[in-house]
Amino acid sequence: MTASPPGPRAAPSRLGEPLAAVLGERAARPLGGLGLRTVGDLLRHYPRRYGRPGEFTDIGALSVGEHVTVMAEIRQATVRPMRARGGSMLEAVVTDGEGTLALTFFAKRAGILRMHEDKLRPGRTGLFTGTVGEYRGRRQLTHPDYLIVGLDTGTEEEALAEASRPIPLYPATAAVPTWKIARAVRTVLDPLTDEDAPDPIPQELLATRGHTPLLASLRDIHIPEDDEAWMRGRARLRYEEALILQSALALRRAEVAGLRSVARRGARGGIADAFDARLPFVLTKGQREVGDRIASDLMRDVPMQRLLQGDVGSGKTVVALRAMLRVVDSGGQAALLAPTEVLAAQHVRTLRALMGPLAEGGMLTAATDATRITLVTGSQASTERRQALGEAASGAAGIVVGTHALLGETVQFADLGLVVVDEQHRFGVEQRDALRARGDRPPHLLVMTATPIPRTVAMTVFGDLEISTLSEKPAGRAEVVTHVVPASNAAWIERAWARVREEVAQGRRAYVVCARIDGDVVEEGDEPESIEAEDVLGDGEPVTTDGALELPLEEEAPRLPLHAVAEVAEEVRARPEFEGIEIAVMHGRLRSEQKDTAMEAFASGAAPVMVCTTVIEVGVDVPEASAMLILDADHFGISTLHQLRGRIGRSDIPGICLLVSRADGESLAGERLSALADTADGFALAEKDLELRREGDVLGAAQSGGRNSLRLLRVLKDRDVIERARRDAEAIVEEDPGLVEHPTLASAISEWIEPESAEFLERS
Ligand code: ADP
Ligand code: MG
Repeated sequence: MTASPPGPRAAPSRLGEPLAAVLGERAARPLGGLGLRTVGDLLRHYPRRYGRPGEFTDIGALSVGEHVTVMAEIRQATVRPMRARGGSMLEAVVTDGEGTLALTFFAKRAGILRMHEDKLRPGRTGLFTGTVGEYRGRRQLTHPDYLIVGLDTGTEEEALAEASRPIPLYPATAAVPTWKIARAVRTVLDPLTDEDAPDPIPQELLATRGHTPLLASLRDIHIPEDDEAWMRGRARLRYEEALILQSALALRRAEVAGLRSVARRGARGGIADAFDARLPFVLTKGQREVGDRIASDLMRDVPMQRLLQGDVGSGKTVVALRAMLRVVDSGGQAALLAPTEVLAAQHVRTLRALMGPLAEGGMLTAATDATRITLVTGSQASTERRQALGEAASGAAGIVVGTHALLGETVQFADLGLVVVDEQHRFGVEQRDALRARGDRPPHLLVMTATPIPRTVAMTVFGDLEISTLSEKPAGRAEVVTHVVPASNAAWIERAWARVREEVAQGRRAYVVCARIDGDVVEEGDEPESIEAEDVLGDGEPVTTDGALELPLEEEAPRLPLHAVAEVAEEVRARPEFEGIEIAVMHGRLRSEQKDTAMEAFASGAAPVMVCTTVIEVGVDVPEASAMLILDADHFGISTLHQLRGRIGRSDIPGICLLVSRADGESLAGERLSALADTADGFALAEKDLELRREGDVLGAAQSGGRNSLRLLRVLKDRDVIERARRDAEAIVEEDPGLVEHPTLASAISEWIEPESAEFLERS
């Protein structure tokens, strides 16, 4: 979408009211800590799961230090004076039928404890929240926050009804326990009428899809009478999310279809043909087929919007280059965007090597049809940069290579016909929109990624792109074997270094990958991936096996510092077996000449070992590289490791990849590493990755908006819902492209796309 939100905006509803106005400042403030500011925010804060009286938490499975909410029955509660310290204490014991947990409260006066004692009567069921501690070998909660089931309701009848209902359990914090959220939700929800909660789902669709109106579904999910109710509510709200998202994408597709680009028909006997004639290898079948698809896309005057996915080493660069050359043959220019400057510089080298005299435009040695390949980066010296900008602006450069900064305002093109985005499946929706908004004739777009994207994710995040896949690799590639090396085993570590040394002795190259540059500087864009077992978007089944109703709060286990490039390079230089061997160093903070020098020394073999960060993760292509030692491998995610490993085994030399890990084999990190050791198939790994990480992360940065992003919709499991919503959304947009008849859907979409601006509009 371009800057303006689609369609008319719905009238402000009560859902936009600040919580402070409804609940009072005091009750609203802690909810702010959860990011909940308006009535709508709170009502969209859905329960994570539902508990039920009689289904107790497995107390035996709780571990010390965990923040938990436990459902249990009170067995006893007694107040007694403390002789040593003065004051009194209340000790209660709760049970799940087998194990017991102590609850302790201390106070100067017994009076306040009597009040607790009166509530904590034996036989009652309650929810107790706190951090599990240990005292004399017994687990306990000290001053837990608690709620007695059925106690806070009016008549006995009501209490009984209450006690039989599923209990909503919300994502909560220590400051706001789940029942306080539940109480606030009720206060807010009770007085609402259907008019107060306009429905983004069109009336007719509710009927055909058999869903309840918005308000009813909010009551179902927050205050369910029974299990059917919350399942019904959840299904409807899930469909709503899918419909909003798919409508946004349908609008985008409609918008793109209405755009006009310049058709690039190529030229017989031009540079593209000359290039094909000098290719040193035979294109794979996939490369040819995708090439034909792209060629026919380019011949149309609707801007191409294509995603090319192909595993590491499948040969995407050549496909891109052939497309770019067709555009050059048609008198236009192509821009190639890489995620890092290192990779951009390497692309220039690779493209020049592949093109030979065809890339020497303006030089004496040039072929007749030759063009120029120009690198534009932020860290270029000013004269160099000025010349590069000049070549882009004059059209002398048929191919301009750089990072995303290329699309910034300062770089002018004579006639930009094609943009290729390399290794950037996270080239987000907004960036694609910005590109389309460029000029009145937007360029064609080709996005390339080595991360295979499941179909529903593609539909969700890339719903505006068409997808091609390179599924085979060029023949004659050697295998890469992968081993996990436990960091605690000194003999194995020694053996790993010895293997690196052996490869070097055979005239090959080795990468040693570290997580940090030095001190506490982590490579940019490379923060540890937060991968948790927590299934936030799950279907209500607890994924954790700890028996706690609530998942532990984030807790970083204390760990040793991660290896850093500077230190490791010193360490390698000091190792006797590496005496006399030049060590190159590479990371994101080097100046670009330093990077070039390091890359060249490594590629030529002058420095056969490169100690680096993950800057080399994507695209770096040194065919002689055969060994890779990754330190703190447990710190990285599957796709990063797979990409890193893709840097070796790029020729007929067999590769060896050693993953040094401090992680327990049973842990999630351990599982990730053994998956990598087991398979080299990027698609299989992507699936494993999805299985191990929470779905929310799948969408990553490509997912627009924090607050208004997917809450219930699970991109993998809800494939049917997504496909249904996609059809419904297309029908709506086809009939009403301006969403004039669907103002509530229109504002839901713009809120999804630009949560901040929507919030702003609501306030102003
Ligand atoms: P990726 O898809 O990971 O970007 P590249 O485009 O870098 O892969 O290709 C990996 C290597 O394979 C490069 O050295 C490239 O020149 C080579 N290559 C590409 N296509 C073929 C082919 N059809 N036959 C042999 N080698 C190829
Ligand atoms: Mg590549």
